[in-house]
Amino acid sequence: MVVVENISKRFGSLEVLENVNFRVEKGEVLTLLGPNGAGKSTLMRILTGILLPSTGVVWIDGVRMDVDPVQAKRHLGYLPEQTPLYPELTVEEYLCFVAAAKGVEPAKQKERVREVIHHCDIEEYRNRRMGTLSKGTLRRVGIAQAIVNDPSVLILDEPTSGLDPSQALSFRELISALRPHTAIVLSTHLMADASQLGTRVLFIHKGRILLEDTVEGLKRRFAERDVYQLKIRVKGERETEDSILKVLSGIEGVQEVKVSPLADPFVWDLIIFTFPDWNPTRSFLPLLGSRNWELIELQQKTMSLEEVFAQITARTQEVGTKDR
Ligand code: ADP
Ligand code: MG
Repeated sequence: MVVVENISKRFGSLEVLENVNFRVEKGEVLTLLGPNGAGKSTLMRILTGILLPSTGVVWIDGVRMDVDPVQAKRHLGYLPEQTPLYPELTVEEYLCFVAAAKGVEPAKQKERVREVIHHCDIEEYRNRRMGTLSKGTLRRVGIAQAIVNDPSVLILDEPTSGLDPSQALSFRELISALRPHTAIVLSTHLMADASQLGTRVLFIHKGRILLEDTVEGLKRRFAERDVYQLKIRVKGERETEDSILKVLSGIEGVQEVKVSPLADPFVWDLIIFTFPDWNPTRSFLPLLGSRNWELIELQQKTMSLEEVFAQITARTQEVGTKDR
C-alpha cells in the first residue's frame, strides 16, 4: 500500500508539487494523468525515495520512506521515465544484475529473470545487447526490471511511451495480471491509457491535484452534453427538415438538433445534443409514438476522454489567467 501525505516539492523558487495526498491499496491501479511538466515524474521520484520532498511523508507498506528508506524500497518496483541503459549488457545479464541489486536470493535469480522475460514478452531479445534495442523493447525490459523482485508496490513512469498498439495491449494484460497482489501507480499524458486500464485517475496540473475520480466518473463529470445519433422513419405525413427540427427542439432537455435527409424521403438521420442525464424514454420516445415516427436506430455517443482532457486543461488555464 502507498500512502502520500501532504507532499510538496520546490526546486529553488519553483513550486513543482503542492500539498499532494492520496493512497493506493493492493489491487488498485492509480493513474497520474496530466500534461507534460505537471509534476508527475517528480512525484514518482519522491514515491521511490530517489528525491526528497520539501514537506510531507511517503509510506510504503507501512514503512516511512524518510525513516527507513532501505526497508521501504525493498518491496518497490520502479520504471523511470528514461530506461537506464547499460549498452554492453545483454537483456538477461542486465536483469540478473538488477535482481541481485534488489536482493532477490541468488538461488532464485535465474528463474525469476526467466519468468519476467516471459511475462514481458522479450524472450527473443534475451541475448541481445541493451544498446541495440528499439525504444519499445527497451521499455519492456524496463518493466521487466521493475517487477523482477516481485514488488508489492509498482511505480511506472509513462510505461506505454514508445510502445506500439500490440505492445501496449500486452502491457495492459501484464498490469491486469499483477494487479491482484500489487499496488500500482502509473503516469501517462494519454487519456487512452487511463481509459483502457479502467483505473482511478488523479488529474495533476501545475503540481496540484485538480481532481480524483474513476475514468467513468471523469467522463460523466465533464461531459457537458450528451450526444445521441438516431434514425427515424416518418410513417404519417411527409415531413420537412424544418418541421422535424421544430418538433425535436421543443423537447425538454434538448440543446441542439441536426437533421440530415437521406435518399428515402421518409427516413431521417438525426443528431441530438442534450443536457447530461437526459432520458429519452421520458419525453422523446412518447413524442415519436404520438407523431407516428418509427425509431430505427438510437445510439448514445459519449464525449471522448481526449475532449474531457482538453476541457480540464482549458478551464485551469482560464482560472490561472483570472488569478493574475
Ligand atoms: P511531468 O513528469 O508531469 O512532465 P516533471 O515532474 O518532470 O513533470 O516536471 C515538473 C516541473 O518540475 C517542470 O516544470 C520541470 O521543469 C521541473 N523540474 C523537474 N525536475 C527538476 C529539477 N531537478 N530541478 C528543477 N526543476 C525541475
Ligand atoms: Mg514525466
